Amino acid sequence: MYTEIEVRMTPEEAHDKDAVRETLAEKLRVDKERIVHAEIIRKSIDARQRKVVLQLKIGVHLDELELKKRNFVPHYQDVSEREPVLIVGAGPAGLFAALRLIERGWRPIVLERGKCVEDRKKDLARLYRTREVDEDSNYGFGEGGAGTFSDGKLFTRSKKRGNVERILEILVYHGAAENILIDAHPHIGTDKLPRVIGNIRRTIERFGGEVRFNSRVTDLLIWGGEVQGVRIGREELMARHVILATGHSARDVYRMLHRHSVLILPKEFAVGLRLEHPQELIDRIQYHNPGGRGDFLPAAEYSFVTNVEGRGVYSFCMCPGGVVVPACTGPRQQVVNGMSSSGRNTRWANSAIVTSIGEQELRMAGCDGLFAGMEFQESLEREAWVQGGGGLYAPAQRLPHFLSGHLSERFPSCSYKPGIRSTIFRDWLPDFLYRRLSSGLRLMGRKADGFLSEDAVLLGVEARTSSPVRIPRGAERLAHPEIAGLYPCGEGAGYAGGIVSAAMDGEKCAESVV
Ligand SMILES: Cc1cc2nc3c(=O)[nH]c(=O)nc-3n(C[C@H](O)[C@H](O)[C@H](O)COP(=O)(O)OP(=O)(O)OC[C@H]3O[C@@H](n4cnc5c(N)ncnc54)[C@H](O)[C@@H]3O)c2cc1C
Repeated sequence: MYTEIEVRMTPEEAHDKDAVRETLAEKLRVDKERIVHAEIIRKSIDARQRKVVLQLKIGVHLDELELKKRNFVPHYQDVSEREPVLIVGAGPAGLFAALRLIERGWRPIVLERGKCVEDRKKDLARLYRTREVDEDSNYGFGEGGAGTFSDGKLFTRSKKRGNVERILEILVYHGAAENILIDAHPHIGTDKLPRVIGNIRRTIERFGGEVRFNSRVTDLLIWGGEVQGVRIGREELMARHVILATGHSARDVYRMLHRHSVLILPKEFAVGLRLEHPQELIDRIQYHNPGGRGDFLPAAEYSFVTNVEGRGVYSFCMCPGGVVVPACTGPRQQVVNGMSSSGRNTRWANSAIVTSIGEQELRMAGCDGLFAGMEFQESLEREAWVQGGGGLYAPAQRLPHFLSGHLSERFPSCSYKPGIRSTIFRDWLPDFLYRRLSSGLRLMGRKADGFLSEDAVLLGVEARTSSPVRIPRGAERLAHPEIAGLYPCGEGAGYAGGIVSAAMDGEKCAESVV
């Protein structure tokens, strides 16, 4: 017999197999000898109270092992002779659109400006060595998109947008660890993601699709309100359907669309700074234990949402046990982001601390027009580059000094490999931005004793959290309302905000093509 049961246990109890069996037997009112196998189906950590407990959903096999069949089996088919669909961008949106098209009998041709994930790794190593950014191969561009070298967090709030489970199953099918199906806050880790991405490419190719690297789409071929194909330098590729999944950092794509008078709309986005603490400090705060997380708990996470002057100031994309990385995609830009490996085992915890930017803020910053948001991002990134002294150095300030406006003379150890340069953010961030971030951080400090620590450092700037524009599309058929056959997709089009939501949007666009 197979049954499922919810239990709450301390991390120590959950680690002890005998204790788990006893708890299960007691709860099920059966002799513990009858339990032949038990497996965790869902796991979350409840750290709201002083005593941290694990909330577990456990599948229990009584008397005999009942082999459970996995529900998910993808139905990929040979599409080598089928009609092609061009997909611009090999991020999660583009890759999941391609996989879905293969299931539905269309031939995806994925065009990616960057390199395959294996070569991209070498370019990132070169980025640290030379401090020069390859404009087509960096933390934002290349196979797998922006999230390839990341924490690989797969948690999404946008569950209504699609089938999250299905996306996780596809990732497991392509080599991600099965625990992503169990954890309430699943993540893959930057050490594991590249292999999963490479496997997705191999599926696309094996079933007759194509993935072309070093293929930056420079133009769309549009005649009479219909897309006809794309241009890659001098080469033209024709197709009736183009899925545009180029992410939010492809500013050249937005400008190209605007040249064609393709309707684009401004959209709210968020900017701020990245905050890094020692992980053991976050463990002590979040697990309410001066001794830290002990042997059985993972590196602690946090998530804060505050409201300042009627606008949100919040933590975003937290990377426990991670490092801060340079996420610029062009020269004279200074942008930071965060990533962690599957073990989340560095000494640091980092997170973006950002606030919403809309029309009102852009007016305060003196930016106007359709691309006001993009220009605001660009001006912040350029100023951060100047303040850091160029060459990927990040302008930085200890958190208490950020709040008081003093220059930090010395810094605690910091994970950001290219190095940091002391700055006074108050002197050059727009007034409203500094004011909001500092008020938001003070409020976070009230919620978490010890958060405003001397050992916490802020690094600049976190300007690529979301797209500053939206490319509109129909509600039912997801093509652009004015350009037949053009499917704006994923984060760059304004319909996703993370790996899973981008993947779900890719699937939706593929369905719409079908
Ligand atoms: C360092 C970092 C860490 C992150 N961590 C997480 C995380 O832990 N969890 C999470 O959910 N999200 C994370 N994100 C965000 C996440 O990566 C994005 O939300 C997601 O990748 C968006 O998917 P997408 O496919 O829409 O766009 P992207 O991933 O941006 O992919 C777009 C692709 O299009 C290509 N492209 C652009 N222009 C062209 C062109 N003209 N021609 C051809 N190709 C082009 C790009 O090279 C890129 O590969 C992180 C991002 C970064 C940078």
